[in-house]
Amino acid sequence: MATNRTFTMIKPDAVQENHIGGILHMMEEGGFRIVELQKLLLTPERAGQFYAVHAERPFYNDLVKYMSSGPIVAAVLEKDNAVADFRTLIGATNPAQAAEGTIRKKYAKSIEANAVHGSDSDENAQIEADFFFGSK
Ligand code: UDP
Ligand code: MG
Repeated sequence: MATNRTFTMIKPDAVQENHIGGILHMMEEGGFRIVELQKLLLTPERAGQFYAVHAERPFYNDLVKYMSSGPIVAAVLEKDNAVADFRTLIGATNPAQAAEGTIRKKYAKSIEANAVHGSDSDENAQIEADFFFGSK
């Protein structure tokens, strides 16, 4: 995957509250092209694998439960400078600190149920996209 791609998920709270359309709209309005898109339910095992990097963190068990509590939407997005620009578009992890105009400011409910995931590096974007969509 080239450096102009990133990986995202719309998390269970946002799917449950009918915000798939609103969030995808903000992504497209932000200049991102949707390359891959799939709605699916993660098992606790798969959610645990996805967040394995956080396995030692105190929030890990709750995070795995939350991420497997309902369907998510996984997507690969394309734009110049995708990883950094998408982190700007989603805003801070904690919605209380997310800037105005960001997806998390608008849709996140808490630091855990924060509406969306965004990859933090080109390397992880590739790994995360492959986790859901396989090598392309
Ligand atoms: N998270 C949490 N409590 C925390 C920090 C993070 O529940 O104190 C959850 C939250 O859903 C977050 C995810 O774990 O999006 C991954 O954490 P990370 O620090 O990678 O934040 P992100 O990259 O998603 O902004
Ligand atoms: Mg992260």
